[in-house]
Amino acid sequence: MVLAGELALAGVDVAIVERRANQDLPGTRAGGLQSRTIEVFDQRGIADRFLAEGQVAQVAGFAVTRLDISDLPTRHNYGLGLWQKHIERLLAGWVAELKVPVYYGNEVTGFSQDDTGVDVQLADGR
Ligand SMILES: Cc1cc2nc3c(=O)[nH]c(=O)nc-3n(C[C@H](O)[C@H](O)[C@H](O)COP(=O)(O)OP(=O)(O)OC[C@H]3O[C@@H](n4cnc5c(N)ncnc54)[C@H](O)[C@@H]3O)c2cc1C
Repeated sequence: MVLAGELALAGVDVAIVERRANQDLPGTRAGGLQSRTIEVFDQRGIADRFLAEGQVAQVAGFAVTRLDISDLPTRHNYGLGLWQKHIERLLAGWVAELKVPVYYGNEVTGFSQDDTGVDVQLADGR
């Protein structure tokens, strides 16, 4: 979704095809964002919507050693606890604002590329 947003901002005609039926995410994946990710989202003006829903904490670490990054020279010298289902929901809102269509419940089965673009084959034959 971040790539789709970046491509849209660069003026590329982009769409997302997702084989999941909807935004629901089975199981757990990401539990949060690292400082650098928050910085990148800040550059795009969307960090605040993540910060508003998550919990700021010192989460950086190396192996089992916890690292306190509160003295790093960044506005976001912390990590953010936020489940991936919320991260994806907020990113879906961002790409929707950028008018990126998301086609749920369909599977990419192949694609071909030439100088004029990319043709994508979908499981439903479209
Ligand atoms: C247990 C776990 C914990 C994690 N914790 C963290 C964390 O704390 N912080 C963090 O930043 N990252 C974490 N990650 C990594 C993070 O989840 C991934 O980096 C991120 O989800 C990758 O995003 P993605 O869009 O590249 O891939 P995905 O999130 O895997 O998205 C790919 C999507 O493509 C769809 N798809 C696949 N093939 C097709 C097809 N042929 N046609 C249509 N759709 C298709 C899939 O259904 C899927 O929804 C964790 C991952 C796991 C598994």
